[in-house]
Amino acid sequence: MDVSNLEAAFERITVADENDDLLVTSTTSSYHKSKGALSTTVSVSALASSNSAVNRQKVPPLQKLAATNASRIVNASVTKVTLPSHDSQSRTSDSISHRRTLTDSVLYIQPSIAKQWSLPMFDIGKPLGKGKFGRVYLAKEKSTGFVCALKVLHKNEISQGKVEKQVRREIEIQSHLAHPNVLRLFGHFHDSKRIILILEYAAKGELYKHLRRELKFPEWKAAQYIAQMAAALKYLHKKHVMHRDIKPENILVGIHGELKISDFGWSVHAPNNRRNTMCGTLDYLPPEMLRGAGKENYYTEKVDLWSLGVLMYEFLCGEAPFEDTQIQTQRRIARADYQIPNTVSAEAKDLIQRLLVLDPEKRIPLDEVETHPWIVKYCKTGERAYNRASGDKFRSSSERES
Ligand code: AMP
Repeated sequence: MDVSNLEAAFERITVADENDDLLVTSTTSSYHKSKGALSTTVSVSALASSNSAVNRQKVPPLQKLAATNASRIVNASVTKVTLPSHDSQSRTSDSISHRRTLTDSVLYIQPSIAKQWSLPMFDIGKPLGKGKFGRVYLAKEKSTGFVCALKVLHKNEISQGKVEKQVRREIEIQSHLAHPNVLRLFGHFHDSKRIILILEYAAKGELYKHLRRELKFPEWKAAQYIAQMAAALKYLHKKHVMHRDIKPENILVGIHGELKISDFGWSVHAPNNRRNTMCGTLDYLPPEMLRGAGKENYYTEKVDLWSLGVLMYEFLCGEAPFEDTQIQTQRRIARADYQIPNTVSAEAKDLIQRLLVLDPEKRIPLDEVETHPWIVKYCKTGERAYNRASGDKFRSSSERES
């Protein structure tokens, strides 16, 4: 890859941010102050609006489905979140008030700090990877030296792939999130052909590759990873965001080995915590989502708890618990039919069994995941949280007396 050619090509194009106003979360705002440069824009006005079907970007899980189910899933509209389209350039009070409801954070408009991002503002480095709709490059913001990842999405591929909704959702949701275990989206801009996302750089790449290389993770590592995922999901659920596509392919690893949930293409902001659309990846799909969309079949953020159980199983066993033919996988998920190998410790087995529960309401809550003995055993922060949560109850009488 000839970086100088790439940079030269970037220099030739004009990339103006067409956003005329700016919604900023309080957290983003403080970031802006501290770094003095980056800010978040949430308009995706250049994307053609479309109600068409959705596809996944990376792993094509839906292709694994039987044709009937696949079409049912693919045709399911996945969000009611409506974002401003290109024909609503002038912001109406409606669109602003709608966007105010997208997160719990206080949103406010600060046109004065709207940063007009463009490619010449970045030094472009090595390619980090290639997704279905574009490439990701290491980059440095010139004025601050801030290292980030630029994801370059091609508009024609997005509309051909009919994933406009997914991209909008990803930008809208991710730009309002700030948690150490959630990949930050600092901002975005576009030109006539491309949309460029300014992302946090995850130096150690995809968790999926780590898992494939190591085959499975030792329990201490799996426990620390599950604790981080539980913390991230707790944060998301507090903001009424269900991720709905938790799996190793959608998790990146930061410079210190910390996990960062990415790929919010399937996530959804659902303030009433109930959704009845169907999407996601078959191996990780919870039983309530397998049953398909329907008025009587709502599901909640507890879908992510099931996926956390599948993830934990895959970390410890090297494969997902329901891996089988497509039909068999569906049948086995519907019955929670899985076996945990004897190589897995009793404590870990207990947590998997508390997560992979058919009744969503009976799945172990995230607070209790964090204080589960298997997590506590391997995680210092878990231990502290455990002590705080359990108080005197679990201390020995001598400890209490001293
Ligand atoms: P995506 O289009 O999001 O699937 O990204 C394609 C590939 O680029 C991923 O599989 C990662 O290997 C890499 N990548 C994406 N985003 C980042 C990031 N923020 N930091 C480091 N690598 C990334």
